[in-house]
Amino acid sequence: MSVARGTVVTYPTGAVTSTGTVVQVADAGDGRIAVVLDRTAFHPVDTAWPDQPADRGVLRVDEVDHPVLDAVVGATQDGSLLLGTDVPVRTGTEGWTFVVAHLIDAAAGVRAGDTAAVVVDPQHRAALSAGHTACHLASLALDAALGDAWRKEVAADALGAPAFDALAIQESRISPDGSRDVYRIGKSLRRKGFDPAALGDLDELADRVNRQLTTWLAAGGAVRIERDGDTLADRRTWVCELAVGEARIPCGGTHLTSLAQLARVTVAFSATTAEGGLELVMTTTAVRA
Ligand SMILES: [Zn+2]
Repeated sequence: MSVARGTVVTYPTGAVTSTGTVVQVADAGDGRIAVVLDRTAFHPVDTAWPDQPADRGVLRVDEVDHPVLDAVVGATQDGSLLLGTDVPVRTGTEGWTFVVAHLIDAAAGVRAGDTAAVVVDPQHRAALSAGHTACHLASLALDAALGDAWRKEVAADALGAPAFDALAIQESRISPDGSRDVYRIGKSLRRKGFDPAALGDLDELADRVNRQLTTWLAAGGAVRIERDGDTLADRRTWVCELAVGEARIPCGGTHLTSLAQLARVTVAFSATTAEGGLELVMTTTAVRA
C-alpha cells in the first residue's frame, strides 16, 4: 500500500463515514502527527483556495476515537510529505501526488498499516454543504444582477452572464449555513469594462439578488458533483439544475443534493474604500428546509 495514487475521497458523494488503511504517518509539528489514509470521507481545507473549512470528526483506531484537530492537503513529489501552506502548487498539479492529511495528537500512537474508521460530524458537514451550495447560487445571482454593469464583452459565468464573481473575487469563505465573499472593484475591473456606479444602492442590489435566489429555490432543482476520478486531485464540478439551464462550476467542496433542501437564501452587501477602488463584501445566509 502506498500513497502513489493519492487519497481516494468519498465526501464528494456525501459520505460522512469511511474505513481505510493508514499509509503514512508524518510529524506535523506542535505535538501533532499527520495521518494519511488510502481513502477518507473527511473534507480537508484546500491550500490554494481555502474556501470550505475542514470537517470536524474523529479517526477511530482499535475502538479508540482520536479527534481530528485539522485536516489539510498534503503533497509529495519525491517522497517527502509537505503539508498545508508548505505545499507550493495547486491541488491537482501534474507530477505531484495529493493526499488528505488528518492532524491528530502525536500521542495517539497511530501507525502505518493500522485500519482507521473516519467519522465526520454530520451536522457540521450538512451546515457547510448548505453554506457552499448557497454561496455558488448567490454568486450566480449576483452576476445576473450586475449583467448591465459592463461596457465591454467579458468572460461569461455558468449561466451566460458577465462573470463578475470570477473576475472580481478575492476571497471566499464558507461557514455553517452561510458564506462571505470579498470582491475587489479596482482599476483592473474597470479596465475590463465594469462600471462601479452600476452597483447603485447596495440594499437595492441585495433585493435584486434575493428575488433571483427566491425564484431559483422555488423550482427546487437537483444538485450534484461530477468528477473525473475518485482521488483528491481529480477535477470535480458542481452541477445545479435551474429553469434557465444547467449551471456548472469547478468545485472541490461538499454540497446539498437539491435546492429543495433550502428554505431561503439571502444576501447582504457592505462596501469599503480600498486602495485604488472598492471592496465589496457579500454575506450569504442559508436557511435549511
Ligand atoms: Zn465551490
